Amino acid sequence: MIMKDKKQGLLIVISGPSGTGKGTLCLELLRRQKFVKVSVSCTTRAPRPGETEGISYFFRTREEFEHLIKNDQMLEWVEFCGNFYGTPRFAVQQLLEAGYDVVLEIDIQGAHQVKQHYPEGVFIFIAPPSVAVLSQRIHDRGTESEEIIRERLAKAIQEMNCLSEYDYLVVNDEILNGVDKLQSIIIAEKCRVKRNCPYFKGDIK
Ligand code: ADP
Ligand code: 5GP
Repeated sequence: MIMKDKKQGLLIVISGPSGTGKGTLCLELLRRQKFVKVSVSCTTRAPRPGETEGISYFFRTREEFEHLIKNDQMLEWVEFCGNFYGTPRFAVQQLLEAGYDVVLEIDIQGAHQVKQHYPEGVFIFIAPPSVAVLSQRIHDRGTESEEIIRERLAKAIQEMNCLSEYDYLVVNDEILNGVDKLQSIIIAEKCRVKRNCPYFKGDIK
């Protein structure tokens, strides 16, 4: 008889330069895959127009954020371009245990911290087709000042040098292509032998 264990979901870590399209790809992935949840991070950054508390981020003051760190409620956290960002630990654990695949959309330092706790996670880097396209996308999004855009582009170039820490590279040329690649990675990862052992249980007749 063939039986499968009830399994924990996959932890999927997605990083890549700001403006490369991570949020856009994740939204489309969520639409397509009902067993995928995106972890909502905490940040001290101010909300952008259209961003919603508890959906885009949990927007917190620096004091509130420091309290969360002190009480060990962050799976990982970083200071990025002058603001704190972090992943609430318990929500991620609960979703994984319930069998959902959980996406963390976080920067490279955060991904590095998560790898220490979840080495079995799937680490995906989303890159733009070129720095020029990235610059265009950030400008078109229209949510940052020129100074912040320059800071984020400089950071993006540094981040591209950390590719080797990831399992997969997805170049976000066309949105639908990018999401197809993410879905393919998730399907392939779920088929890995190491995630399916033991597959046969009891007598095989
Ligand atoms: P990130 O979450 O990585 O900061 P966003 O998802 O906010 O990036 O995308 C930045 C901008 O680029 C948005 O205006 C978005 O609509 C646009 N965008 C994302 N992916 C693509 C793509 N494949 N082609 C063209 N524009 C894109
Ligand atoms: P933004 O301000 O554009 O929303 O995010 C800036 C950067 O912070 C992006 O690279 C994004 O992936 C990263 N980020 C968002 N949430 C988190 C988080 O919880 N932890 C870490 N380490 N980075 C995050």
